[in-house]
Amino acid sequence: MLNREDYMLVIWEYLEAFDKVQEKDISNRLHISPPTVYEYLLKLQEEGIISRNGRNIEFTPSGRNFALKLIRMHRISEVFAYKFLEIPWEDVHVSVMELEHLFSGSKGEALYKNLGRPETCPHGNPIDPEYRIKEIPLPFADDGHYHVRRVSFEEIGLLKKLASIGAIPDQEVYVIKDADDIELTGPNGTMKIEFPVAMSLRLYL
Ligand SMILES: [Zn+2]
Repeated sequence: MLNREDYMLVIWEYLEAFDKVQEKDISNRLHISPPTVYEYLLKLQEEGIISRNGRNIEFTPSGRNFALKLIRMHRISEVFAYKFLEIPWEDVHVSVMELEHLFSGSKGEALYKNLGRPETCPHGNPIDPEYRIKEIPLPFADDGHYHVRRVSFEEIGLLKKLASIGAIPDQEVYVIKDADDIELTGPNGTMKIEFPVAMSLRLYL
């Protein structure tokens, strides 16, 4: 059974990677039927966590503050799982969905301190979710050599593909743009990414 935090995490991710999120996105991402998502979002709306602007879902100011704490804890938990539990890079996002709920408040801060105050999660996303990083979203990159800054949309299928070609943070990649998609070459191979999903991959020179 998914809870409030799982929904908020997905809403945050979509907003961060693509600037908008709708019911169908949440339904696809969490593999939950649209009526169930609809019901749950009504509940979040009644609790004052989200509001709606047409089909688009937004955080209310207090919902956003709650989300900032959650995302921070999620990313700290990911560092822990990656470093100390040796969970593979591509699986770490899903595997901490349970774990992160255990680390609230002072436990979370103790974990952060003892991890050596990391700046980012294993996918390169800043522990402080409001920190603005210098980066180039993949669709805005010209053909050429770059480094991976982060993967803001931590979807397991995408993470697996990126891991298989070695395109993880700070690795060098080569970008070639076509009309319909982008060819990305990492240290271990080449893959194609379609334009909408490509927004979640952020690069630096
Ligand atoms: Zn992450």
